[in-house]
Formats: sequence, structure tokens, C-alpha cells
Amino acid sequence: MQGDDVIYDCAVIGGGLSGLCLAIQLAGEGWRVVVFEKNDFPLHKVCGEYISMESHEFLIRIGLPLKEWDLPYITELGISSEQGFMLETPLGLGGFGISRYTLDYELYLLAVKKGVSIHQQCKVQKASYLEAEGLSLIQTTKGSFKSKIVCGSYGKYTPAFVQEQGDYRAEKNSRNHIGVKYHIKTSLPQNRIELHNFNDGYCGISKVDQDWYCLCYLSSAENLRKNGNSIAQMEEQVLYKNPFLKQYFSNSEFVSRQPLVISNVQFRQKQPYSSHMFLLGDAAGSISPLCGNGMSMGMRASVLLAEGINAYLRKELTKDELIARYTQAWNSAFHTRIKAGYYLQNVFGKKTSTQLALKTLSLFPALTKKIISLTHGKPF
Ligand SMILES: Cc1cc2nc3c(=O)[nH]c(=O)nc-3n(C[C@H](O)[C@H](O)[C@H](O)COP(=O)(O)OP(=O)(O)OC[C@H]3O[C@@H](n4cnc5c(N)ncnc54)[C@H](O)[C@@H]3O)c2cc1C
Repeated sequence: MQGDDVIYDCAVIGGGLSGLCLAIQLAGEGWRVVVFEKNDFPLHKVCGEYISMESHEFLIRIGLPLKEWDLPYITELGISSEQGFMLETPLGLGGFGISRYTLDYELYLLAVKKGVSIHQQCKVQKASYLEAEGLSLIQTTKGSFKSKIVCGSYGKYTPAFVQEQGDYRAEKNSRNHIGVKYHIKTSLPQNRIELHNFNDGYCGISKVDQDWYCLCYLSSAENLRKNGNSIAQMEEQVLYKNPFLKQYFSNSEFVSRQPLVISNVQFRQKQPYSSHMFLLGDAAGSISPLCGNGMSMGMRASVLLAEGINAYLRKELTKDELIARYTQAWNSAFHTRIKAGYYLQNVFGKKTSTQLALKTLSLFPALTKKIISLTHGKPF
């Protein structure tokens, strides 16, 4: 296929949940939207699969019948230290569990139903702005496309054709993590999520759809290197030191013994607009899963951006006004949340400070509640 001759109103690079949610909203307003996804649907993703309740109504509003899917609603949290101490706390707003395999696929089907043109196995190689035409040209492995607006929802790995602003090189030296995910069958109340700390990492376990639980952890890349790059060896030598994790790994049924693994994971704020592209989801900035709800942040950004693009396409805003409005809305929605996340990230996944922090928090339930509320936004 050699692209097409349509001039799209909006082109979306990356068919993860942020990009699909944006596309669904814009197509719902009657705009011509195209999404490029380098993989095929459905697909598994490394993710803890716990979604903050803040986005529950939003997903229903755009057309996902969540209430009909018998999903687990999660209201309680247990956080353990490597030494075996467990902090127990209610979750406040709480969340629900759904696998990315199901969620992203259902969003994909909904987008198709709304008339979004979706190109799978289609990698974007370059996006450039054609000054004379006032359009963007998107070059992909399946040809070239033109669009009035381009949005980047390509996730945490910034493609080479996007210019990063800020002191990116310095941040590149910051700590690298790996993310590992399994689906398991285990014994844990449906309304409970557990986070188990180990040296330089932590692991979340909670129920999702089907009869699966998601077991997903983040570890420093250094842990893996020290264990001869063997995931199994690292689990036995590092994760099993937490008695709860040893128990889960030893007594659960693994849906697949082969984990899904991603490397080079970093958490940092980027920017919501770059290289003539509006960015959302992890492309605009990612937050450690212990300290925030990346999926809900991506969905919330899709709402902010859809509102702005709608106004622009209806000629109620100029492009410069759209850039200013989205940048301001993005910063006010996420800046504090991301900053708080970076501070929290420094406390967890460390042998002594985690144990100390959990024991202290167990004495101050109101403080624990406040910290948890920092990681969940208000419903939208
Ligand atoms: C270990 C771990 C656990 C987590 N747990 C949770 C959790 O429990 N709850 C939560 O809310 N968040 C969690 N997160 C964060 C959450 O996974 C992300 O915030 C979320 O996936 C971001 O969605 P997105 O749509 O921005 O990106 P993605 O879901 O990563 O989608 C990006 C898409 O773009 C495609 N793409 C990339 N480049 C191109 C290209 N050049 N051309 C075409 N397509 C391209 C990719 O194939 C991908 O499908 C976790 C993250 C990690 C690392």
C-alpha cells in the first residue's frame, strides 16, 4: 500500500490506549482520523493493569461497556518490605483491573466502529511539516499520508525523528529499569492489590479480567546485569528475598512461563508539544507505576487534547493558541503529580528506607491516605 490521497484532520502515531482514546473522541466529532500502529492488535503489554477509578466514567462515556465485563474493583492495598513487613491501607478512590490485551483490543474495535482509519504493522519513520501547504507529511512503512494535525502517542521510547528538548543527555544517565510481566492464577482477594518491594525494585499483583492476575515488576537493570542477564536467576536471587514474592512465585500457576520483558525504562517529564507534534501519554512524560497511574494520565491527556483539536478544527483557535492551551492544560494537570512521583520513587525499592517508610506510615493512616491520593487524580 502506498499511503492514500485523503487529507486527514488528525494523524495519530501509536495505537496504545492514549492514541486510541484520542482517535475515538475525534472521530466521534466527525473528524477524519488515521492511526498508525507498528504492531498488530491484539497484543500484550508490560503494564501492571491497574486502572485508577478516575478514568472509569470516561471509558464508559466513549463507549466501553465496562460494567458488563465483570471486572475486579480494587479497594485495598498492601505494601510489603523485603523484611516481610506489610502496610495495610484502603485505597480511597481505588481502581479496577483489566489486561492490556483486552483493553487495547476493545479500544481498537471501538475506534474502527467510529470510522477511524487504523493501519497496523505500520511504523512511522518520519513526520515533517510542509510549511507551504500548512500540512504534515507522515512517512510510514506503508507509504505517505498528509494531515492537518499530528499527535505522538508512541509511548515511552522517543523515535529518532522527534527532537527532545531539555537536558536529555544528562537524564539519559539516570537509572535504567527493566519491566517484566506475567499473567498468573493465584490466591488473592479480587479487591486487593499488593506491592512487594525488593532491592532496587517492586512488584505489583492484582486481579484482571478472565481468571488471570497480573504480576508485573520493575527492577533496576543493574539487578539483571549482576545475575548474568538471566531473569529467572534474578528472580531467585533478588525478588525471592521478599517472603511474599517467594510465596507467589512458588505457589502460583503461570499462564505462560515466558515473561514479557521491556528494557531501558526511564521515568521523566518530557514536553506536550515538540517537532510540530502534540504529545500525549508516555510520549509526553512517564511516571513510575508505584507513584502514579500512567494509563489514566494518558487518557486524561487525550481528553484535554481532543477538546483543543476540536476547537482548532472548528477554526475557533489558531495553531499557536492550540499549542499554548494544550501545554498549559497538560502542565496544570500533571506537573505536580509527576514531581510528587519522582520523590516517592526515591523512597521505595530500597531495603532500609522502604522498611522505615512503611513502618512510619503504618502509624499515620491519614498521611498514608494523603500520599495515595497524590497518585490518583480526580474523575474526569
Ligand atoms: C512495569 C510497568 C508497570 C505499569 N503499571 C501500570 C499500572 O498498573 N497502571 C497504570 O495506570 N499505568 C501503569 N504503567 C504505565 C502505563 O503502562 C503507561 O503509562 C501506558 O501504557 C501509556 O500508554 P501510551 O498509549 O502512552 O503508550 P503505549 O501503551 O506504550 O502505546 C504506544 C504505542 O505506540 C506504538 N508505536 C511506537 N512507536 C511507533 C512508531 N514509530 N510507529 C507506529 N507505532 C508506534 C507502540 O507499538 C505502542 O503500541 C506501567 C508501566 C510500566 C513500565
